[in-house]
Amino acid sequence: MPKSPRLPCDVIRDGVGYDLDLAKQSVGQGWHGIIERLFAAKPTWIQVIQVKEKFGGLRFYVNDGAVRADLFDPAAHVDSLAIPPKHGSQGDGEDPVRAGVKAYWELVQDAEAESFKVCEECGKPGSRCTIDHWIKTLCEACQGRLCDGSTSD
Ligand SMILES: [Zn+2]
Repeated sequence: MPKSPRLPCDVIRDGVGYDLDLAKQSVGQGWHGIIERLFAAKPTWIQVIQVKEKFGGLRFYVNDGAVRADLFDPAAHVDSLAIPPKHGSQGDGEDPVRAGVKAYWELVQDAEAESFKVCEECGKPGSRCTIDHWIKTLCEACQGRLCDGSTSD
């Protein structure tokens, strides 16, 4: 049973996307600073469609209004962007929408890479570890705390 009040499908259906609060609820508080930074830099026309932790790293999915973007393979998606030209055909000049998407993707990629070095629980410097078959990025103190919890009682 999902605990969050809004499901990803609701987020897409209501056309709003993840807001800052929902994004923060989706990951540990150690990454809230990263999330806040990404929302502050986000162009208003880019929607955040999913935020989650996977394999110890932050996943921050966005939608430019035309396609779903997988940020782990941004190059492929930049090439395949199907943004309809609004004022006739585009020349060789770079589409400002496409340029904006690219720039934001780079920012998100940096943030995702950073998340592998930041404890998801408390925000201190951390590293990837495996706890009970889950890969998490945690600092030493949080690793010890969570391991203790899984071995006693
Ligand atoms: Zn920690």
